[in-house]
Amino acid sequence: TEKSRKFPIKMTVFLASGLEVEERTDMLKDKIIIVTGGASGIGRAAANLFAQDGARVMIADRSADAGAAAAEAICADGGEAAFVACDVADDESVAAMVAATVAHFGGLDGAFNNAGIEFASKIVPDLSYAEWRRVIDINLNGVFLCMKHEIAQMRRTGGGAIVNTASGAAVAASPNMAEYATSKAGVTGLTRAASCEFGETQVRVNAVLPGLILTPMTEERLFNDAGFAAALEPLLVRHSVGRFGQPDDVAQAARWLLSDLCPFVNGISLPVDGGLLAR
Ligand code: NAD
Repeated sequence: TEKSRKFPIKMTVFLASGLEVEERTDMLKDKIIIVTGGASGIGRAAANLFAQDGARVMIADRSADAGAAAAEAICADGGEAAFVACDVADDESVAAMVAATVAHFGGLDGAFNNAGIEFASKIVPDLSYAEWRRVIDINLNGVFLCMKHEIAQMRRTGGGAIVNTASGAAVAASPNMAEYATSKAGVTGLTRAASCEFGETQVRVNAVLPGLILTPMTEERLFNDAGFAAALEPLLVRHSVGRFGQPDDVAQAARWLLSDLCPFVNGISLPVDGGLLAR
């Protein structure tokens, strides 16, 4: 592909591999689902997939142009979607986002809390407190704020399901990503804790732990930053399936966890990583 030709190290075989597109199903039919970070990458793929399954999708993102375009594309394809601008790290913005979803679609059945940012690529002593707090604020506090308002809404109408995007970095350490790994470990802890409250909320809460997924977050650096790419080479061989992930790989797992096909699955952090953590 164009991208694999530009790639600074030899990984063509891994990048060429793709996912088979699945036929339209009704796994999420008529469910009203929020997707945060739905303007790009994993969130955008999830919003598309959920809409193909018959869900009514609210894309919530701080990027207004890309978010609105993502919702419009779903509608043009015959699906049902809308967009609301939201900063997940802002309590009032998240409350307004959940209220807007309920006002627009008439309720809330599920949420994929996926918005996130990446790390500053510094070792701990070089990381400023502002850099640390920025990642914790969006990746961890943002998931808390979304869950707080979403679960409050869901429990009023009999419950629902939540999937949070953590990362393999939540459980496996690497240099230069302390603030990111900590934020994602926090998401898995929050997921477990909230899942225990099912008796009061009737909301299942699970997380996904993506391996390296080719999205705008990673691709830019992968293709333009030789140092970053070289650092990833040893990581690639640990994705046992022989390639990095595609956004749809994660979207498929989130779809299943949000569906009614797994009512007994609650509190897990599911690796979606081509075997990375196992290795
Ligand atoms: P991406 O950059 O393509 O998409 C992230 C989206 O989140 C963007 O649309 C962005 O505008 C939005 N966003 C960021 N901050 C926000 C905020 N404060 N409020 C609302 N929206 C905000 O990235 P992606 O790779 O699709 O990442 C999605 C999630 O997956 C992130 O939580 C990321 O940490 C996680 N993840 C990604 C990988 C990977 O390899 N790409 C691996 C593990 C985990």
